[in-house]
Amino acid sequence: MHVLVLGGVTEASALAARLAGRSDLDVTLSLAGRTSNPKPAPVPTRVGGFGGAEGLARWLAEHRVGLVIDATHPFAAMIARNAAAACAQRGVQLLALRRPPWRATSGDRWTEVAAMPEAAAALGPAPRRVFLTVGRLELPAFAAAPQHRYIVRTIEPIGDALPVSGVIAIQDRGPFGEAEERTLMREHGVEAVVTKNSGGAATYGKIAAARTLGLPVVMVARPQKPDAPTVESVDAALAWMEAHGRASQRRGV
Ligand code: NAP
Repeated sequence: MHVLVLGGVTEASALAARLAGRSDLDVTLSLAGRTSNPKPAPVPTRVGGFGGAEGLARWLAEHRVGLVIDATHPFAAMIARNAAAACAQRGVQLLALRRPPWRATSGDRWTEVAAMPEAAAALGPAPRRVFLTVGRLELPAFAAAPQHRYIVRTIEPIGDALPVSGVIAIQDRGPFGEAEERTLMREHGVEAVVTKNSGGAATYGKIAAARTLGLPVVMVARPQKPDAPTVESVDAALAWMEAHGRASQRRGV
């Protein structure tokens, strides 16, 4: 069977690594191409969009895909919709691999908002030093709140995505531990943190650090995603594939 893994996050690469070398499967990892130097993958990899749901549906048919695993980032809403539509159109099985969201715990000072413009507004009118870890493409929303001093961390250079004065741009790629996040926040005199609710361990350090330092966090909630069978870890995805394969064999599919 040909398995298409829609990737862009650690779990997708980890899943591809666990599937690599299996003689019963052909595996392709698909990346959007947002990062200029993605980590090499142990399975054949294609890069770039498919051309919407229609393009993806064509790709599935041309490459005789039997299973799509949507292991994209929880905030990648478009590709999730396209995957659901294309799989439905071609009768291809879809499995979503989505890490669980972070939950506020004792000591956390979160303001939860539904979208990025609300996050900018939630920072309030008084100037603050704000640690922005929302991704380069989300930065323009904060131009509406130019009174703040932004410390921005992204994987790729931010270019002119945040046209306000005094931006401190840090280019770095996680994982980031709690201690190093605390040091960074202290060094820059951070007064508030803005983040997406991405979930996962690799970037949880900033949440723990903000808690320890007593800093408020503006937490942007996840977008809606289409219904699909969903697992929360690579192990669970492998177990699901095993069980699904056995069930298909019993049905003679
Ligand atoms: P998006 O808004 O859901 O997707 C935009 C378009 O990018 C899709 O319509 C598709 O183009 C293409 N695309 C997205 N993921 C793809 C994949 N794995 N393979 C091939 N094409 C893909 O996604 P996004 O928020 O821009 O994120 C882009 C990529 O970065 C995703 O793979 C995601 O996992 C990763 N990422 C996103 C975030 C985030 O916060 N959004 C954070 C970390 C990593 P076509 O319509 O032409 O097929």
